[in-house]
Amino acid sequence: MTELTKTLELKLVKPNAHKRRKLQETREAFQQALHAAFDARCTTQTEANDVVVNYDLSGYAKNALKNYVPQLTTTYNAGELHDDHPVRFTNEGLRLDHKPENAIEWYVKIPHHDDYCLWMPAQPNPDQRDWLEALNAGDAEMGESRLFERDGTWFLHVTATRDVDVGSGVSAENRTPIGVDIGEASLVTVCHRDECGSPTAPELWADEGKTVRRLRKTYFTATRRLQKRGSERIADSFGDDLWNQIDDVFHRVTREVVEYAESVENPVLVLEDLTYIRESMDYGEYMNRRLHGWGFAKLHAQIRYKAVEKGIPVETVNPRNTSKECHACGEVGYRPKQATFKCTNDTCWLGEYQADVNGAVNIADRYLSGESRSREYENDDDSAEDGARLTAPQDSQADADTQQKTLGTYAS
Ligand SMILES: [Zn+2]
Repeated sequence: MTELTKTLELKLVKPNAHKRRKLQETREAFQQALHAAFDARCTTQTEANDVVVNYDLSGYAKNALKNYVPQLTTTYNAGELHDDHPVRFTNEGLRLDHKPENAIEWYVKIPHHDDYCLWMPAQPNPDQRDWLEALNAGDAEMGESRLFERDGTWFLHVTATRDVDVGSGVSAENRTPIGVDIGEASLVTVCHRDECGSPTAPELWADEGKTVRRLRKTYFTATRRLQKRGSERIADSFGDDLWNQIDDVFHRVTREVVEYAESVENPVLVLEDLTYIRESMDYGEYMNRRLHGWGFAKLHAQIRYKAVEKGIPVETVNPRNTSKECHACGEVGYRPKQATFKCTNDTCWLGEYQADVNGAVNIADRYLSGESRSREYENDDDSAEDGARLTAPQDSQADADTQQKTLGTYAS
């Protein structure tokens, strides 16, 4: 196990005039206390405490100052202070909340005075979503946070730490790709190919898909009714409760996905590339429905952080047509029913196949066909050509028979 620490970046979303004033008050009080303790050359926590105790700040900011000022005066032996020091809070100061039902999903609680704090919507760095999910679930630990303003915008930087497994160091081409398909009927579907190239051990979380759909439907109908009656507060807490139930389902499923990967030798989990999907709005109604904001990103983020904890690499691939192509021949087919994929190639043995499993195999295959890209290279433009045809391994008839039998056990 290795401890990984990262600074998470959040931008506070358009605080209103009242909240901006409160933030400025906090900053001014913090600057004054910092300068006073620094000018008094406080070298211990006790000395710093005697100075900062007089300022109108939360205990979290005062405690941060008690740690920080002695560092400045002794460790760094700083001669003078700049004026633009961020406000610091100790680790318990900040709270994070996730409301996936809102347009702005994340909220942070920022301490103001001792008994007063501000809940504010915040936009995280989208690449750090997995860390926020880990923090929100208590699987990462929050450290000190810093609040500052730049060009009129307020930011929060939060230090977070979690344990990760560095993994086995097996090279990328020697890994077994496991395709992870996130859908509607089946919330998540995973599948990989065995040594002979046959899709094997498909696992579908179909009941969970049903549960999540039911909870979401309850949320939308019930909160609308409550809001009509003017019961905003009840609607809020009822809604929170339902989304927490959904989140519980998500956490269980994503844990099981990672367990599935652990049962495969040298696995790599392969997900569809979200940035790709966000950029391309023409993937059609099916893809847009699947995305529908929160669910897709939340499941991805949870899978990511849980996989890293176990030392399992995660890669993303181009999502184009993963649900429409035949994993056996590459032909673009169609779905006569939600759960069924039909290949339209007359010479292909496949015929009809479980649609989500077909999608998961396609996703896994893109890793091997070189369409995957690491997170580190996310901004590279080399995968702009997304028309590359999937060349699936040609299955022998014997493989096909096995597949048909496998299919029988989970076809709906
Ligand atoms: Zn086919």
